[in-house]
Amino acid sequence: MAKVRLENLRKVFDVPDGEEVAIERIDTTIQDEKLTCLLGPSGCGKTTLLRMIAGLEKPSEGRIYFDDEDVTNVRVQDRGVSMVFQNIALFPFKSVRDNISYGLKYEDVPKDTVKRKVEDIASQLGIAEFLDQMPNQLSGGQQQRVALGRSLIRDPEVFLLDEPMSALDERIRIKLRTELKELQRELATTTVYVTHNQEQAMALSDEIIILNDGQIEQQGTPDEIFDEPANVFVAEFIGSPRINLLEATLEGTALTVDGTDVSIAGPGASAHLAGDATREVFLGIRPSRIELSPESTGDSLRGTVSLLEKLGQEDVAFLDCPAIEQEVRVETDRTDIEEGTTYDLSFDPADVHLFDRASGEALRLDQAAKPAQ
Ligand code: ADP
Ligand code: MG
Repeated sequence: MAKVRLENLRKVFDVPDGEEVAIERIDTTIQDEKLTCLLGPSGCGKTTLLRMIAGLEKPSEGRIYFDDEDVTNVRVQDRGVSMVFQNIALFPFKSVRDNISYGLKYEDVPKDTVKRKVEDIASQLGIAEFLDQMPNQLSGGQQQRVALGRSLIRDPEVFLLDEPMSALDERIRIKLRTELKELQRELATTTVYVTHNQEQAMALSDEIIILNDGQIEQQGTPDEIFDEPANVFVAEFIGSPRINLLEATLEGTALTVDGTDVSIAGPGASAHLAGDATREVFLGIRPSRIELSPESTGDSLRGTVSLLEKLGQEDVAFLDCPAIEQEVRVETDRTDIEEGTTYDLSFDPADVHLFDRASGEALRLDQAAKPAQ
């Protein structure tokens, strides 16, 4: 297994009307033996980055290392990578057994070792009973397991997956995702998993790299990214329902939601105000962190439920808040919330995220816990 170091990586494609910058500049390390997700919206460069790691695409600039070995100019077949794509490409006229063992076809492995490895991996993937069947006798989820088996049997240094489950239905995807995570833990193969699905990335990853426009917005564990989003892009991309961003003004240590008297004392960001008397910010608050109460306390934020979405355990209420001319999303497990009713919205200052309104960058709230002076 190897850690993957990407050094000043850049990829520009020549296109008829000029150049297309797919990867602007990427400089990071992907951890050894862990599962890292490349997460970002469609077109942000995930596939291009994965293909460069695989050796299927040559970087325009920069270097790629597996551990200390510079593999930038090493051919795909000599890199020790295995790749699984979105569309399952099994050989239709070969048995499951032959499809899996195909991964070893060009390697010098004794026949009985191949047999043992195929059976091993098939049982780890829960497809041992299908080894002598043909792919078209299997469900989509089972076929994708065969494709995973064919890749994993080669004991790759680095295992690369590009949206491997997007063709499967939700229920199978969740099941296979758990199995893949367990298998990855067991094999401890360095794995890079591309997805645009934040929920998938949160559930699977040891670490997430969030890409946007060919650049890294943030890299960290799922908890770090959820709890301390580095900027507005990450805050809005991670978490469902989406975080609320309210326009607010920071003045000294007081934070006031624009258009209201709602003031939160001592978010402690005064250190960032050196020179400025006030700063325009976004106050970020996750829907699950807002409380609704019917009584008015006077200086609070009020809103009327315009829509209630039932999501089983939790409901999502959309509230029109005239004072801030904005709709606020609230996730609640209360059963007495009704459309058309007006509520007070309140939240704990400790749950607030602050972002500079102009740059979108997070203002660190390290000092937030300290009482205001
Ligand atoms: P993602 O996988 O995140 O959806 P891609 O890596 O496929 O994104 O694409 C990133 C950008 O690079 C897109 O704007 C895409 O159009 C462009 N791109 C990707 N491959 C090529 C190519 N072979 N030629 C020209 N442009 C490309
Ligand atoms: Mg892609």
